[in-house]
Amino acid sequence: MEFPLVTLPGTILVPGHVIPLYSHNQHEVAMLKSVVDSPHKTFGVVALRFDQHRHIIASIGTTAEIYSVKNETDEASGISTITVLAQGRQRFELIEYRRTITGVLLGKIRILPDAELGNALYPLQSSAQRRLCCHSDREEDMKVAMDSKGRIISCVRMKPRSKLTRFSNANLTWWPPWVYKMYDTELVMKRIKTALQKWDDKLHPQKLPSDATKLSYWVTQNIPLDDTLKLHLLSINSPIQRLRCALGIMDKCSVFCCQHCNKDITGMSSIFSMSVSGPLSAYVNPGGHVHETVTVHEAHNLSLQGRPSTEHSWFPGYAWTIAQCRHCYSHMGWKFTATRKELQPRKFWGLCRSSLVPGMADLNEGPEQESSWTPVM
Ligand SMILES: [Zn+2]
Repeated sequence: MEFPLVTLPGTILVPGHVIPLYSHNQHEVAMLKSVVDSPHKTFGVVALRFDQHRHIIASIGTTAEIYSVKNETDEASGISTITVLAQGRQRFELIEYRRTITGVLLGKIRILPDAELGNALYPLQSSAQRRLCCHSDREEDMKVAMDSKGRIISCVRMKPRSKLTRFSNANLTWWPPWVYKMYDTELVMKRIKTALQKWDDKLHPQKLPSDATKLSYWVTQNIPLDDTLKLHLLSINSPIQRLRCALGIMDKCSVFCCQHCNKDITGMSSIFSMSVSGPLSAYVNPGGHVHETVTVHEAHNLSLQGRPSTEHSWFPGYAWTIAQCRHCYSHMGWKFTATRKELQPRKFWGLCRSSLVPGMADLNEGPEQESSWTPVM
């Protein structure tokens, strides 16, 4: 398939998540208008970065479907602008691309599949066994006796009558049960949800997607990873492997550092959600620059620049002040302070994902670097 491409520095779109775009570049406005008029309303989003004096484009991207559009034309100058909201749909591999005469990129892409593993032991189970083992991960049962007023007078833990579990039949195969447990959808999702709750105790498991593929994208979107790690997660074609890889990252990472000088900026436990979609969302400024921003309660090693302003604030009722790294003066994000009495929290920080790098226990075990990038023609 061939789609027009939008390249964004420091922003990686994940399926299921929303990206806002604003443009006053007339060729881009015309391109987005033609996408809006097309039946599928879809374009491709690929990340871009500047490295050693040249632009490098990611070889993995996500298709985006426009669901909201606003066109405006300035009467005096005749310049038109466009604001669109688009939702990430499917991951793709960028096979090749060309630049049209107007400078718009057209990419030839291949949609990447999400391969569900399923239950490998299911064909080995008898129907009676399936009935007995439907709650295999519940090791014990509680039997409680109560008096007439509902007070607990006795509580007994019951060992399950049957030792059969969903994994018992693994003994009939070449691999032991623990191998099957490593790739079991239900168990991996449970581990991820437990890890996420340690990270943010207000994050209710019911607010998280119940589908493994959607949960793997939620995690890919909301952990503030650097571009290379995020693209690595997006390049994995199995939701279970993506979740396992995210678990590995969450186990090793507890702090986030300045991308340039590696000073500690914030911790995993400071991250919280200001929007319903999760702690990390994309916002566009009046210049058309998209910032993926993670909201945190606490941040260190930052200094403020200028006065607080409420102009074009992404969080209504909060004034923003530019924040930079105290050591290397790189732009890190903004401090948001409440301007109305009833607002809670009174202050928080919005940090750019592209300015942060996860502080890992051992970076050498991370995925291969540079694999998902190609230089732009
Ligand atoms: Zn720094």
